[in-house]
Amino acid sequence: MSTPVRVQLWGFVNAFLVPEEDGFTLVDTTLPRGAKKILAAARDAGTPVKRIALTHAHGDHIGGLDRLVRELPDVEVVIGARDARLMAKDFSLDPGEPQVPIRGDLRGCETRPTRTVSEGDRLGSLEVVASPGHTPGHVAFLDPRDSTLYCGDVFSTRGGIETSARANPRFPLVVMGTWHRPTVVVSAQKLRDLEAARLAPGHGPILDKPAAAMDAAIARARHALKN
Ligand SMILES: [Zn+2]
Repeated sequence: MSTPVRVQLWGFVNAFLVPEEDGFTLVDTTLPRGAKKILAAARDAGTPVKRIALTHAHGDHIGGLDRLVRELPDVEVVIGARDARLMAKDFSLDPGEPQVPIRGDLRGCETRPTRTVSEGDRLGSLEVVASPGHTPGHVAFLDPRDSTLYCGDVFSTRGGIETSARANPRFPLVVMGTWHRPTVVVSAQKLRDLEAARLAPGHGPILDKPAAAMDAAIARARHALKN
């Protein structure tokens, strides 16, 4: 089994081509102009993209989706059930959710998911881990074959690892899009407790043996929330 292919746009927006027996699962799609780059990377690997797994519905994660689906008409499109609503520009909040506005790049898209998922579901080898907070329906994907955790925007490693609950002065983009910071911290701890061998975030480089760095980032986020 080969390792995932990281496709980068502008050096800081990631998508990942995760090898499966029947082709690639693409985790996130970057922005519209990233679609070409992703298709070229799959072509170079000689492997078709079979499914697209979206961590959340922000524009820098779903932006390439419409163009990709035009080129890949049979592709499966998967997102958490809650964030599927954001794709369709339904920004209403549910009773029981923090009643604060959903933030970030909410451009939506034309494509609708072929399937929505929640905690514990599988797509290909990937396990869905509910990790709300950055958006209400954010999900992460754990690949138990090599213990890689595709954490979307719960953590970013661009300019040093942080959760999306705490502003990183070297890379403020992610936290600016966060919906509810205390919920991010709960999700970050949940992801940390999976003891993943590798962290593959939406922004920044892949981090090997990330546990200690995740602990430190969670501690900084907790401290920032208290002050
Ligand atoms: Zn985001």
